[in-house]
Amino acid sequence: MSKVHELAIIGGGPAGYTAAIYAIRGGVDFIFFADGVAGGQIATTDSLENYTGVPGPIAGMEFSRRMTEQAEGLGIEVEQVHIEKIEDKDGSFIITDDYDETHQARVIILATGAHYRLLPLEGADKFNGRGLSYCATCDGNFYRDKEVAVVGGGDTALEEALYLSRLCRKVHLIHRRLEFRGVPVLQERVRAQPKIELHLPYVPHRIIGEDGVDGLEIENVKTGDLEILEVPGIFSALGMIPNSELVKTLCELDRSGYVVTDVRMFTSNPRILAAGDVTVTPLRQVAVAVGHGAIAAESARCWLDENCILPTGQE
Ligand code: NAP
Repeated sequence: MSKVHELAIIGGGPAGYTAAIYAIRGGVDFIFFADGVAGGQIATTDSLENYTGVPGPIAGMEFSRRMTEQAEGLGIEVEQVHIEKIEDKDGSFIITDDYDETHQARVIILATGAHYRLLPLEGADKFNGRGLSYCATCDGNFYRDKEVAVVGGGDTALEEALYLSRLCRKVHLIHRRLEFRGVPVLQERVRAQPKIELHLPYVPHRIIGEDGVDGLEIENVKTGDLEILEVPGIFSALGMIPNSELVKTLCELDRSGYVVTDVRMFTSNPRILAAGDVTVTPLRQVAVAVGHGAIAAESARCWLDENCILPTGQE
């Protein structure tokens, strides 16, 4: 059997990296799993403008590069594997990766973030990468000087519409309500951008095309009227689904699948902590994820140290 580490940190976004930074500085013996693009979701974000002490805009990729460079400088090693399974056995967790290797740890910090909600249209998946995209920063360049549609009304949709308006001839923004969910500053920028046309309250009805996207039929939620937008590109930004599958039988999740934590980032299982976008939190931002990661690592360190006193209920 492999060595039992004190702590396993799962997830390579800002929450996981911050937990690793605090854990190594706190002298905790840990193993750090991060697969996919270093930095997680933030790596695919166009620009970060609201992180204290980093005057923006800074490209998400550059922010991720700095984060990984900082970790490397501290001697943090990253296991670039995907974790498939976690089992709780006799006071330690058995963690199985996608190479079928097992690892063991007494405590876990889950910082696995969330993934995109898919466009809820039948047959939409056949257009993935053929006109339907979930990332404007990744695919926007294919639609230079063309017309595109963005679906959604949160911060991501507003940011993507603004990003695409710098490249594309026209951007159709489709949202199911008259009010946007995104923050006022982004709403103002969207409304001030003449290349963005708003379609409110509309939902996507049908993607038109065979091998690729030729257009998007949209439906007015109030009147049922249908309208066809002749666009070769559709960007879906309908929010996130938490990556909490690994712990769904091990600790409490809310109705949407987000992991419930207390203020010290402990879950209902006293040996599992969670941090960042996978948790129930009023704000899913880098600043929040970083704070969660720091608290989770410090709580884990304290739990592992018999001389450290946690508040009542967590001993
Ligand atoms: P979000 O805030 O959950 O917004 C999702 C949007 O998609 C909502 O407008 C929602 O409509 C719409 N939607 C969901 N399901 C739908 C469906 N089946 N049909 C039609 N529309 C649907 O997601 P997000 O924009 O990805 O943001 C996620 C988190 O990241 C938020 O906390 C956000 O603040 C944060 N974020 C921050 C920044 C930034 O600060 N720069 C950038 C990106 C994301 P309703 O509004 O009607 O529910």
